[in-house]
Amino acid sequence: MTFRLATVDGRATLVRGDDLHDLERCSGGDLGPDPMAAVAAHRRLHEIAHGLDGCEVTGHLAGATLGPPVPHPTNVFAIGLNYRSHAAETGMALDGTPPAPLVFTKFPSCISEPRTDIVLEADSVDYEVELVVVIGTGGKDIAEDDAWDHVAGVTIGQDISDRTLQFAAKPPHFDLGKSRDTYGPIGPVLVSPDCFDDPDDITLSCDVNGDRRQHASTTDMIFPVPALIAYLSSILTLRPGDLIFTGTPAGVAMSTGDFLVPGDVITSTIEGIGTLINRCV
Ligand code: ZN
Repeated sequence: MTFRLATVDGRATLVRGDDLHDLERCSGGDLGPDPMAAVAAHRRLHEIAHGLDGCEVTGHLAGATLGPPVPHPTNVFAIGLNYRSHAAETGMALDGTPPAPLVFTKFPSCISEPRTDIVLEADSVDYEVELVVVIGTGGKDIAEDDAWDHVAGVTIGQDISDRTLQFAAKPPHFDLGKSRDTYGPIGPVLVSPDCFDDPDDITLSCDVNGDRRQHASTTDMIFPVPALIAYLSSILTLRPGDLIFTGTPAGVAMSTGDFLVPGDVITSTIEGIGTLINRCV
């Protein structure tokens, strides 16, 4: 049974259609309100979602105050140049497959609620819609074939990037340029991988003020999700709640020159998950 998990007023909440079910209540007190504990209990969430019919509806998604579905990850990994289309547009594409994924960090303090306003502190701020993978069951040396079993679910992320800051040092310090406050909205819900016919073929898009800027399938990834999990876990132990921003497809402002300005509205959509809407201020 699939599940959709949100953070509503700080509490882990299952979502079915527009109905909200507070997790502590619909689990009969078995699970508490902590969203991080809910992610770690992802296998239980499938069972609880299966039995929601008799459970009290505790609110409605429309109009709810949503926090990030994973508010306090230990690690937030991000992957650079992971779509062939984006690697090509940057002029940084290699012939053939690169030897390893390009991994950087978004510091966890940048993780913000799905409707956060993006605070522009420069005139070179860029959008990057990304599929974000949420680890549910941690581990070391996870095989590619087992990788999706370790995933609690996926959500939408914006890897907001201050390009001037990103390239301020030589070699560039990606981490800081992508970790200003508000530069990591995720949500609106975490969706279990079995919601998708093929979790390695998910369509994502990004519009700015209604203009389509990015549109792709995750099949364009150079390192698909199982390869990323296998690679990262070959180096360190992944933990429940760790996030992986899996890279962005072509169409970013770094290539087109259309950087974000105050008043812009970024709409990021992933089929089967929903939409993130962020206003620039
Ligand atoms: Zn990115």
